[in-house]
Amino acid sequence: EKLTKHFPITGGVLGRKVGAVKAVNDLSFEVYEGETLGIVGESGCGKSTMGRLLLKLIEPTDGSVAFREEQLLTKSPKEMRKMRRELQMVFQDPYASLNPRMTVERILEEPLIVHGIGSKEERRQKVKEMLGIVGLDEAYGKRYPHQFSGGQRQRIGIARALMTNPKLIIADEPVSALDVSIQSQILNLLKDLQKEFSLTYIFISHDLGVVRHISDRLGVMYLGSLVELADSEKVYADPLHPYTKALLSAVPLPDPEAVKEQIVLKGDLPSPSDPPKGCAFHTRCPACFEPCTVKKPAWKEVKEGHYVACHLYE
Ligand code: SF4
Ligand code: MG
Repeated sequence: EKLTKHFPITGGVLGRKVGAVKAVNDLSFEVYEGETLGIVGESGCGKSTMGRLLLKLIEPTDGSVAFREEQLLTKSPKEMRKMRRELQMVFQDPYASLNPRMTVERILEEPLIVHGIGSKEERRQKVKEMLGIVGLDEAYGKRYPHQFSGGQRQRIGIARALMTNPKLIIADEPVSALDVSIQSQILNLLKDLQKEFSLTYIFISHDLGVVRHISDRLGVMYLGSLVELADSEKVYADPLHPYTKALLSAVPLPDPEAVKEQIVLKGDLPSPSDPPKGCAFHTRCPACFEPCTVKKPAWKEVKEGHYVACHLYE
C-alpha cells in the first residue's frame, strides 16, 4: 500500500542530504494466493528495490506491506524471523548468493538451522529430498557451488528458497544470467514447483518474453512507479499505457512473417534522482498532451482488474 523508497544522496564535507534517489514511488497492489505476478521494467526502474521492500529486507520511506492480514513493518525482528520462513527470495546471480566455502548440503541446511527446524538427521534427509525435487543428484550435496553450471546453481538457489516451506517466493531476474536454452528449463521447474507446493510468485524481470511465459498477471514499472497492471493476456492483447505499448512493440513476434510497428522512444531514461514532473513518462511519451507535464496521473482501475496510471484514461 503506497510503498515508497527514497535513498538519500549525501554530499559536501558535512555529508548533508543533498537529494534522493526516488527508487520506488507510491506502489499499491495485491498478490493473490497461488498466482504468479510478473513485474517488468527496464533496469533501474526500482523492481529489485520493490522486491526487497516487500520482504522487509530494507525499510520503506513510506507506505506499508501486509502478508495475509499481518502488517510486516510493525513486526519485531523476532516475529519477522518467524515470518521469513514463509517469504523467500530467489536471486538473479545464484553464484553470488551461494556461499562459495559451503557445500551444497550445508547451504541448503542453513535456513533450517536458522529457523531451528528439525534434528540434524531430519535436516539432512530434507536436503536430499529437495535436491531431487529441483532435479539434482543427491550426491551433489557434497560439492561446492563453483562445481556447478549456472543452471544447476540456480536450481540450488531455488532449493534453498524452498527449504522452509515458504508460501511466497520473490524471484528477482531468476533466469537473466542463464543461457536462453537453460532459461526455459528453470521456468518450467518454477512452474512445476508452484503446482506441487501451492506457491505464490512475484516474478521480476526486464524481459517481457520471459515474464509472459510464467505470469498470470503482469505489472509494468517505469521510474519507480507501476504504470499498468492487469491479467497478463490482457496486457499483451490490449496494452493501455503508452510505455507498455512501446515495450511490447520491441518484443519479436513468434511469426516472422508478421509485421508490427516498433515504437521507438525518444530520449534517455531520466534519472530517478530527478524524475520529470507530472507524469514521469512525459519526456518520452508519444501521446503526451497538456496535463501530462504538470499533473501526476492517478493509479486507476479503468476496466475490471485492469489498472493504469495515464491521463488518457481519466
Ligand atoms: Fe503519456 Fe500523458 Fe499518459 Fe503520461 S499521462 S503516459 S505522458 S499520455
Ligand atoms: Mg534489479
